Amino acid sequence: MPDATPRPDGGFLWESIVNGPVRSRRLGVSLGLNLIPARSKLCSFDCPYCECGFNTPRADGSRWPSPDEVAHALRRGLARLAASPDWITFAGNGEPTMHPRFPVVVDRVLAVRAELVPGTRVAVLSNGLAAGKPAIRDALRALDARLMKLDPGPAERVNGVRYDAARLVDGYRALKPYTIQAMVTRGTEWDGGSDASLAAWLPLVVRADPDGVQLYSLDRPPADPGLQNVPRERLEEMARAIRTALPRCHVEVF
Ligand code: SF4
Repeated sequence: MPDATPRPDGGFLWESIVNGPVRSRRLGVSLGLNLIPARSKLCSFDCPYCECGFNTPRADGSRWPSPDEVAHALRRGLARLAASPDWITFAGNGEPTMHPRFPVVVDRVLAVRAELVPGTRVAVLSNGLAAGKPAIRDALRALDARLMKLDPGPAERVNGVRYDAARLVDGYRALKPYTIQAMVTRGTEWDGGSDASLAAWLPLVVRADPDGVQLYSLDRPPADPGLQNVPRERLEEMARAIRTALPRCHVEVF
């Protein structure tokens, strides 16, 4: 990737606020928005599979970009494209809702979209930890698509932190319509694709009541080289279990 810097742990960091456009497996042609301070990977999770690598301290001299800086970068990024992207996506080097003025950034980005590329949709990839806060929830709801994380397997291994998954999914219900993204991986002592992981995870998915679920396994080298792929056949079995439990949910395997 031309505008990304490799890291020693196998991840990479986007160098600027606007990156791409990239063709993603799940969104088509997407222009990325990275709200994280430069040369830093900041997330309220610390997933061992993260393609940005493990969390870092905030780099010396770096700061969160202001809403105006994000809007200006987006204008410039759109101006250099030959055609409008399918999507503008909040993603980048960590968790976008950690931006201290995330709701204002969303307002600015939606205004630029309306003015310059009204046919382009705006999405967010989020781990959902902040989705229960009213201001964050309302900002997420203002977007065209919300892709919220809910991975099977022990949270402290898969996501690097402990959290209350039941509370997380209760917050997700207020985001409808939305999609759950589930990364299915296995480590040396645990397996997100095991029957036990599926049995613990499926009731959470049902409680979360998503409109879509996207299941996938590793596509790029993970931050932790001990992680392994879960075979596609197993992802298909997990997808069938979700379709049985939630017949109206659109379930896809990537
Ligand atoms: S939630 Fe996303 S950005 Fe955060 S560590 Fe996990 S994969 Fe990386």
